Amino acid sequence: MALGEFELIERFFKRPARPAASGVALGVGDDCALLQPAPGTQVAISCDMLVEGRHFFPDVDPVSLGHKALAVNLSDLAACGTKPLAFTLALALPEANEAWLDGFSRGLFALADAHRCELIGGDTTQGPRNICITVFGEVPVLEGRSLALLRSGAEAGDDIYVSGTVGDARLALDALNGRLDVPAAVLAQARLRLELPAPRVALGLALRGVASAAIDVSDGLLGDLGHVLKASNCGATIDTSIAIELLAACHPSGNAHAADRLQLSHAQRLGYVLAGGDDYELLFTAPSTLRAAVQAAAQTSGTPVTRIGRIEAEPGLRLVDAHGKPVSGRFASFDHFA
Ligand SMILES: [Mg+2]
Repeated sequence: MALGEFELIERFFKRPARPAASGVALGVGDDCALLQPAPGTQVAISCDMLVEGRHFFPDVDPVSLGHKALAVNLSDLAACGTKPLAFTLALALPEANEAWLDGFSRGLFALADAHRCELIGGDTTQGPRNICITVFGEVPVLEGRSLALLRSGAEAGDDIYVSGTVGDARLALDALNGRLDVPAAVLAQARLRLELPAPRVALGLALRGVASAAIDVSDGLLGDLGHVLKASNCGATIDTSIAIELLAACHPSGNAHAADRLQLSHAQRLGYVLAGGDDYELLFTAPSTLRAAVQAAAQTSGTPVTRIGRIEAEPGLRLVDAHGKPVSGRFASFDHFA
C-alpha cells in the first residue's frame, strides 16, 4: 500500500483522546486492550466477516459499508440482550484508497458513537477486501443467572414476534442484481434496509426478563426461527396473513402509487418476508401472559413489534392462513431462495 499501515491507522482509525468508555480500561495503543466489565456482569462476544463480492458489491458506498460492518455485529449483541462495550476491526484492502477509507471510517464511527461502542484494536493488511469485526457486550448476572437472551428458552404456548419489517433487504438485492423490476421510489427505501440496517440494541435490552428466546434475522425469518425451534426443542405455527404485511415495499411511506407498480405475486411477497434475510430485526418469543410487557418494551425502545405466531410442543414449522388452515405448498414456493 502506498499509505503505510501505521499511517493508515493513524489517519483513519485513531481518534483524539477522550474519556474511556465504560467497560474499557485500556483502548488502542498497546499490545492488548483491556476490558473491565462491571461487577456482576458477563462479557458477550460475537464476530462477523464481510467479504467483497459475497456480502457487498465492490462499488457500494463506503459510508454505508462502514455502518453495515458494525451493524451486523451489534445486531448479534441485540439478539442476546447485551449492551455494546467495544469492538475490534481486522481489515484487508487491495489498496489504501484514501477516499474509500475516509467514507468507511466515518460510517463505522457514526454507528459506534451512537451505541457508545469503542474501537479498541485491530489489524490491517493488503489483500482482497474483507472486513472482520468482533464485538464485545455486557449483560448482568442476577442471583447466579445470566440475563442474556438465548435461542434455547422458547416454550410451548409462547407467542412469536418479529420487530420492524422484513424482506426488503432481499428485495433490494434482487432488484440491484436485475432479477426483479422494482419502481425507483420503492427501491430507494428498500435499499436503505439492505445497506443501512439499524441494529435493534434498545429492543434487545428492553426484552431482558421478558423474552424467553431471541435471535436476529440474518439468514431469513423461517431459517432463523428454525434455529430457535431446534435449540428450544419445540415447533411453531406462523400466521402468514399477518407475516405477509411485513414487507415494507408494499407499504412505502408517502408513495402508495409506486407500491401499486410493484408487481409481486402472493407467493413472492410471502417468500421475501419468510426467507429474505439480511434484515437484522429481532425474532423473539415470550409467554402469552407477558403481552403487555412486550408492548412496553417495544414502546420504550421505539421499535414496532408484530406477533406472528405461536410456539407449540409438536416439532416442525406450520404455516397457516387467517383461518388457521394450512398454507398449501408450504416451502415449495420459497425454494428459489435456497
Ligand atoms: Mg445472529
